[in-house]
Order: sequence, then structure tokens, then C-alpha cells
Amino acid sequence: MFTQKKITDNWDYFYKEIQQTAAAAVEKILSGNAAEQRPVENFAALISPAAAPFLEQMMQLSKRITQERFGKNMQLFIPMYLSNECQNICTYCGFSFTNKIPRKTLTDAEILQEIDIVKSYGYDNILLLTGEHDKLVGIDYLLHAVKLVKQHFSQVSIEVQPMEQHEYKLLKDAGVYAVLVYQETYHKEVYKTYHPKGKKSNFEYRLDTPDRLGKAGVYKIGLGVLLGLEDWRTDSYFNALHLDYLQKTYWQTKYSVSFPRIRPHEGDFAPKSVLSEKELVQLICAYRICFPDVELSLSSRERAQFRDIVLPYGITSMSAGSKTEPGGYSDSEALKQFEIHDDRTPAEIAAMIRSKQYEPVWKDWDAVLI
Ligand code: SF4
Repeated sequence: MFTQKKITDNWDYFYKEIQQTAAAAVEKILSGNAAEQRPVENFAALISPAAAPFLEQMMQLSKRITQERFGKNMQLFIPMYLSNECQNICTYCGFSFTNKIPRKTLTDAEILQEIDIVKSYGYDNILLLTGEHDKLVGIDYLLHAVKLVKQHFSQVSIEVQPMEQHEYKLLKDAGVYAVLVYQETYHKEVYKTYHPKGKKSNFEYRLDTPDRLGKAGVYKIGLGVLLGLEDWRTDSYFNALHLDYLQKTYWQTKYSVSFPRIRPHEGDFAPKSVLSEKELVQLICAYRICFPDVELSLSSRERAQFRDIVLPYGITSMSAGSKTEPGGYSDSEALKQFEIHDDRTPAEIAAMIRSKQYEPVWKDWDAVLI
């Protein structure tokens, strides 16, 4: 288990190590010949302040590695929120338990209505999301929802509350392809202040979730931190160490990393550590250079122009046409979890991708292939 490695006890040590990286160390990494010679240890140097002047070089290397591994393809995905019920208090989230908002969990009829709209956009893969509520959106609700949705999509992924290994096995058997679970922050003490109540306040249980997923044999695990809760460099380095550990332990599993940056929501949460767009590009490139096979995902939280520019430099999947509230595709009046900054339609984003000589991909995997 990753918790047994006690890595997260050494936040200050890794923070200093990243800050004190010398430019010569970055130059040495970038002058290497093969991507395989750049292991996770180099990740700290590539996200350091010392690497900032080498951004153009990192972008070109990242672009080359991405095209070699993934071709000129961009997978599109769309989230479908099934519920905004949540028993947790997360101080940065619009769905937090104490927020007085209308709560909603979709019925079968409402899910089918959403499916009709999402299918009409051209999608054959979907990401299902819920808040974290044992009774209302626990394993029974999710299994039922997955079975219903799976009849209409080749690929179903979920981003829901952390579960037990046997529950993940049930979900996999019901047709779930990927499970996304973000640690939010790897800073143990600070984590508690952002998650004061509910099951999510258990730092270790969340940290061991990818291990339970790996043991359950889920095909793909999505990782990430909520960029802005703590120093983004140290958090990202821990995420990279976690990814490295998982890749070595559950080597048959695929992995993806997402880059959610804190955005405004009801309650006006201000990020502690602001990650600029330039730094976000540096982070994306560092992942690509050190983890050539990992899928990297950029959501419509980011503004349209930025997503257009960053497209060739490491990203392999993008959301398009997203709504972040339950029932959002048929009725957009309910409260959002966070603001979308790129509100173009899936067709508009697909056209943008084609204009850059890339191919938009609406699904890249099917259960019949295994
Ligand atoms: S981040 Fe997730 S667990 Fe936390 S309040 Fe929002 S929906 Fe609930």
C-alpha cells in the first residue's frame, strides 16, 4: 500500500528539494537521448522554478514524445453528474454538505434523458459523477446506474466516492472501464483542514484507494490533485511518486492524470497556491517527459484559447460540452459544482481539433476487444 511507504510524512523535505534544484540539473535531463532515461526522480527538477526558463525546450520534447506514443489523436470525454448529494464537508466545493443548495439525484428516466442528449453530440464514452453519499448514491445506486448507462455507451468511467475492493470488482463486472479518484492534496495536515467532516476526512483511506482499484483489476485509474490547495509543485511531485508506485505495482493497469485548477464557485474559495497557465504547461510537459505512456487530461475548467494552444504539448484527452450539475444537459438551472470556462459545443471543439490536423476520438476502447 502507498500509505505504508510513509512518503507523505516528508512534505518539507521534498518542498525544499524542488525549490533548490539547480538549472544544470534541468539541462542535464533535457539533453538526454531517450524518454526512458528520465525517471520519476527527474520530475522534481522539471517542475522546479529552475526549469521555467527551459519551457520551450520542454514543450518541444513533450510534443515529440506525445506524437510518438499517441499519434495526432485527441480523445474527447463528457461528464454526466448523477447527483449532487454529499455527506462531506470540503471547504472548496459547491456540493459541500453545509451548502444550502437544491439537492438532486437523477432517476432512471432523467438519466435516459441525459443520455439522449449526450449521444446526440456523438459521444460513445462517458464519465459518471456523484457526490459522496453512502445511502443515496452508494454501491446499489451506482451499479444500477452503470448497468443502465452501459447499454448506450461503449466506455463508462466513474468519479465517485472511494469504495472497497469488492465493490470496485462489482462495478468493473458491471461495465466500468476507469475510476478517477483524486487525492486533492498529499499534505496530510492541510488535508484535514480542507476536509473537516465526513468519510473524506480520512486521508489514509483515500490515499489507499488506487491500491484497492489496482487489486480489483479496474482497467484504468485516474489520479490528480486539486491544484491550488497547497504548493502545486510538492503536491504534483507526490502525485508523480504515487503514479510511479502504482505503475510498478499494478503494471497491467492504465493510468491517467488530470489537472483541475481551483475555479470560482458559490462561497468564493481562494486558492492558497496559484498555478499560472505557463506553470500548468510546465507541469503537463514534466508528466509527459517522465511518464511517456500516461494519458493526460485537460478539462473545460480551462479557457478555450489556452486549451487550443496547449493541445499538442502532452494532453491526450479533453472534455467538451461539459455541464457540472445533475440533469445539466436537459435543464441547466440547477447549481454547478464549479464554473466551466470553455463553453464551446463538442462539435466546435472537434472542429478546432481538426483545424490543428489532429483527429477527435469519441471512444478508444471497447470491452469486445479484450
Ligand atoms: S469535492 Fe466531492 S466529496 Fe467534497 S463536497 Fe464536493 S462532491 Fe462532496
